[in-house]
Amino acid sequence: MSDELIINKEELCCHSERPLLISGPCSAESEKQVVETAKALAGLGVNIFRAGIWKPRTRPGTFEGMGSVALPWLRRAKEETGMLVATEVANVWHVKEAINHGIDIIWIGARTTANPFAVQEIADALRGYDIPVFVKNPINPDIELWIGALQRLNKVGIEKLYAVHRGFSYYGESSYRNPPQWEIPIELKRRIPDVPIVTDPSHICGSKDLLFSVSQTAMDLDFDGLFIESHINPEEALSDKEQQLTPDELSVLLDRLILRNHDVESAKQLENLEGLRRQIDQWDEELLRIIRSRMAISEQIGEYKKKEGITILQTNRWSSILEDRLLKAREMGMSDQFIIKVFKQIHQESINFQNRVMN
Ligand code: PEP
Ligand code: MN
Repeated sequence: MSDELIINKEELCCHSERPLLISGPCSAESEKQVVETAKALAGLGVNIFRAGIWKPRTRPGTFEGMGSVALPWLRRAKEETGMLVATEVANVWHVKEAINHGIDIIWIGARTTANPFAVQEIADALRGYDIPVFVKNPINPDIELWIGALQRLNKVGIEKLYAVHRGFSYYGESSYRNPPQWEIPIELKRRIPDVPIVTDPSHICGSKDLLFSVSQTAMDLDFDGLFIESHINPEEALSDKEQQLTPDELSVLLDRLILRNHDVESAKQLENLEGLRRQIDQWDEELLRIIRSRMAISEQIGEYKKKEGITILQTNRWSSILEDRLLKAREMGMSDQFIIKVFKQIHQESINFQNRVMN
């Protein structure tokens, strides 16, 4: 299936500035909160003011947003600051209300992106409008759903499209609210390079402490912007209070960010990097040869097991391999997470090799 998208690169708003900054409260709560937050953010160079009006809450009985009464507050924020204003839409009614009240930009939330019916309905309602749309990744780590949502919008003529990386839901202990799984937005960028990707550190982290490091990683991976929650008084926020920054805290975070060059510039830099890259290429070749040799042994094992009528998988052996390799890798300074991933893949491919020999 083709990943092709038609993107209006010239008109992607504020794209020449890096990072593109989208900030504002998780939810619009009162006219005063909206306008005061917007005024403080405008002074920091924020390009787009965000505020949720219809809030997709995991559990009922929590604050679900102010609804349409808040739309004029956003308009006032826009008039008083000159910032573009954005809100989340999840159905056709939201789209109509947002457009009728002069909302400049809309975003599709993570729960909605995961539902192709909902995305298609929103796309159909947007046909004929020339409005920028930010598409958050689906809550589950499925790049196809993410690309699919971008394509549904593109097919009705939306050419100002952005992707928002907000992490992926996870069952179990994690230091993140939604672990970032950076390999997914990196792959998105490889497959559809014309769509800018902004990172939403707020929903990735769920608290203030990791926001800076996630934002810095996003910049070091050359993503295009930050979509970050801020509130004039986070302690009193009605949703996501732990993760929202005051405008002053946002200012400190932005000042600390180091923006590195994304192009390799001088001949000297190029020369140094090329030397190192040549070494990487050689090591990769070596690595491939080593893995192939290991697979050859797996084939021999397969032949032996076939002759003796022994099953391919012996769970004890696999557990002891993993334990042993983890110990050794730890001593070499490599993370458990990485080694587990690598050895699971190697083990699976060994099974495939044995399987081919046996059957
Ligand atoms: C939000 O941006 O406030 C929001 C609800 O985000 P997500 O869809 O990423 O959970
Ligand atoms: Mn939020």
